[in-house]
Amino acid sequence: MSCSCDTHTTALMPYSDALSLLLDTALPITEAESISLAQALDRVLAENITSSINVPPADNSGMDGYAFRNEDTKHFASLVIQDTVFAGDHLSTPVKEGHCVRIMTGAHVPEDVDTVVMQERTRVEDGRLFIDGECKTGDNIRKAGEDISKGDVILKKGRKLTPSDLGLISSVGINQVKVIRKLKVAVISTGDELKPAGTALEPGQIYESNGIVISSLLKRMNIDVIEFGIIPDIPEEIERAFIQANQQADVVISSGGVSVGDADYVKPLLQKLGHIDFWKVAIKPGKPFAFGKLSESYFIGLPGNPVSATVTFDVLAKPFLQKLSGMHASPTLSIPATTASTFRKRPGRMDFQRAVLHQTVDGSLQVSPTGNQGSGILTSVSLANGYVVIPAEQGSISEGETVHFTPLSTALRESD
Ligand code: AMP
Ligand code: MG
Repeated sequence: MSCSCDTHTTALMPYSDALSLLLDTALPITEAESISLAQALDRVLAENITSSINVPPADNSGMDGYAFRNEDTKHFASLVIQDTVFAGDHLSTPVKEGHCVRIMTGAHVPEDVDTVVMQERTRVEDGRLFIDGECKTGDNIRKAGEDISKGDVILKKGRKLTPSDLGLISSVGINQVKVIRKLKVAVISTGDELKPAGTALEPGQIYESNGIVISSLLKRMNIDVIEFGIIPDIPEEIERAFIQANQQADVVISSGGVSVGDADYVKPLLQKLGHIDFWKVAIKPGKPFAFGKLSESYFIGLPGNPVSATVTFDVLAKPFLQKLSGMHASPTLSIPATTASTFRKRPGRMDFQRAVLHQTVDGSLQVSPTGNQGSGILTSVSLANGYVVIPAEQGSISEGETVHFTPLSTALRESD
């Protein structure tokens, strides 16, 4: 029997429309809390961070060597070594004419000298310094404020804090930051056939896998996860879970039960509890997708097929959650790469094919699909380090052509 699944093409919603609808609906959370910097990794800034100091606060030496007035080297064949300045010291006596000081990396450069020469270019005899060749005034001095000037905004509201960001904030002396509160997301897996791993399977049953994938993707986003586990296809049980999740979470994410066969009872149930739209998004994998609002939370219904659930999470739910969490979005990374083998595709829907990008010995980037691209083949996601995104109207792509690859690690919308 021929497949009729793509004959209702007119009813399919383009990916860009689905993403826009999700993003337009997401009202970023504004509730903030003040926390210590040590707790702030991966949190989203609720305010701009402004420096009240120069960094470095004073001129300091970029080398172990000697500091002097460059002008003096024109009048004296050698300079008298007057003192030594270590990092953390502050020389209180002036550097006399024709004199210099031994200085260590990071040490404060005395106000009355202007040049540092590295010790490898010097010779010391009887307490006098001889310099090989000429120096330029200002050599090897890291100027006050050359990294950050007093009053600079060093990080903007909406920034998801990285390890180096924490260092930057620390370098201006700040140890408390105001961040957006963490999102709370409930994860529900629906299906009579699902059994938890670690238990025995009865005929007709399969092991549940979407829950741990979605929860882990959420945890990587630093979201608090409320795990509801497996809920059987019993309307009263699903309703109870949805009501509870709605009260506890900012977003309720379920998988399964949104395709045509199941939607018959999930749909009226969700419409009773809120305003949920059931979309057929023109993407592969992952056509069925539900989105809307319950009384206290947003609702996202992912398809049940493990690959579809993961991909729709990445390409639709994730950008939505990032916006909701107050993060700035930046454009998706799309890296041109040469296909090392054929990417099979039928025109009609936009494909997110799971693929591996690798670098050949000559440095060029090549990409291959991770085998069977069926929506139940979770191996194809596990093996992949990203997606090759193929436009809806495009057919198969032969070996040697250029495609666009989006790394999984950068996902689809990272922070600025
Ligand atoms: P559904 O969207 O509920 O019709 O499910 C589509 C397919 O995905 C079916 O083969 C289900 O058995 C499978 N499936 C649904 N939910 C899960 C889950 N949480 N883990 C693994 N497979 C699932
Ligand atoms: Mg089901």
